[in-house]
Amino acid sequence: MTAITYQFSETYARELDHADPLKAYRDEFYFPLVKGKPAIYFCGNSLGLQPKRTRINIDKELQNWANQAVDGHFYGEEPWYDIRKKSKPILGELMGALDHEVVAMNNLSSNLHFLMVSFYRPTEKRFKIITEAGAFPSDMYMLESQVKFHGLDPEKTIIEIGPREGEHILRTEDILAKITETGDELALVMMAGLQYYTGQVFDMGAITNSAHHVGAKAGFDLAHAAGNITMNLHDWGVDFAAWCSYKYLNSGPGNISGIYVHERHADDPSLPRFAGWWGHDEAERFKMEKGFKPMYGADGWQLANTNVLGMAALHASLELFQEAGIHNLRRKSELLTGYLEFLIGEINGETQVLEIITPKNPLERGCQLSLLVHKGGKKVFDELYEHGIVGDWRHPNVIRVAPTPLYNSFEDVNRFANILKQSLVKFA
Ligand SMILES: *Cc1c(COP(=O)(O)O)cnc(C)c1O
Repeated sequence: MTAITYQFSETYARELDHADPLKAYRDEFYFPLVKGKPAIYFCGNSLGLQPKRTRINIDKELQNWANQAVDGHFYGEEPWYDIRKKSKPILGELMGALDHEVVAMNNLSSNLHFLMVSFYRPTEKRFKIITEAGAFPSDMYMLESQVKFHGLDPEKTIIEIGPREGEHILRTEDILAKITETGDELALVMMAGLQYYTGQVFDMGAITNSAHHVGAKAGFDLAHAAGNITMNLHDWGVDFAAWCSYKYLNSGPGNISGIYVHERHADDPSLPRFAGWWGHDEAERFKMEKGFKPMYGADGWQLANTNVLGMAALHASLELFQEAGIHNLRRKSELLTGYLEFLIGEINGETQVLEIITPKNPLERGCQLSLLVHKGGKKVFDELYEHGIVGDWRHPNVIRVAPTPLYNSFEDVNRFANILKQSLVKFA
């Protein structure tokens, strides 16, 4: 990217918006009100906004259900029986995966458990798991309980890699060194693709390569990566991954997750798994006989028939990603977050009351910046909310703000910066 000379002015922010080829997508979303006014919503990393198309899509399926009832499974414009297929091309594009390597199903934490049933197969010699220190709590509980399920001691099994003294983010070299050091005791690397607290993107390709080199598997939790950064899971050789769709993918609270399983595992019936009828060979599904035969690819990990209303909501948002184009979105995202970073630098001036702990390199971050607040802390954050900014506060002193390229504007970022400046004057 060529260097940009950003400016701290409303006129300049408006010019950027004017020139933004994706500006029309903002109108596709509902914005919540704070104190009676539309919020500056920087919380898509927690819950994405509702697309206006969501209700239309769900209404359509409600109508199908009303009109056709059970016949909706096999008849009509888009029979429910095959509804999962519709999201595969765009999910594949978002993940950098083949269509048969991805499928939307279940919830994130459930999916990672199901995938670990297949890909965490500890033996007496090879049993350890490498993960990042300070992982999202659900991930910590998943690993702990998987390890105990195999009768092992989490203390002796899970290796957490943290930042070096005085640093906030992990160094790839440290992750790779730990993988090499653990060597043939390492069964699995299972970590975030994009760290929820710091906003750091890990080098999934290098990590996977290293893991494979010592004979281990590599899986990623893509909760904060899906719909935020572009990925190449297939080419990187990642064994498995899962994500949720209610953060950057705007599918609605608690809605359907998705999984990815590399092609090399697509046709391996010897892989143990917890099966259900929806993962069984489609041609024989309704024979209702004993003997599980997994479908080819990610579909073979499905258990239950598809949540159609959830899928309708997911599609409303995936269509927007498809129309806007994920590479266009990424381009805008780098500009938007770059602008935010610039303005924070301007506000900080000499005082350095704010410290951005998210990496500076755009390739090592998505849209989120995590701000360590050295003075004023929660008071600064509460003041932001008073002025209509929805971000989030993470104990003990981090404000996370995530301007998303689908529905946030450069003017949002500029207004945020002005309010942040005032709040710091008041409380820091
Ligand atoms: C949001 C998030 C989750 C949430 O898991 P659910 O099963 O969807 O409740 C899990 N892991 C990470 C890293 C997350 O960011």
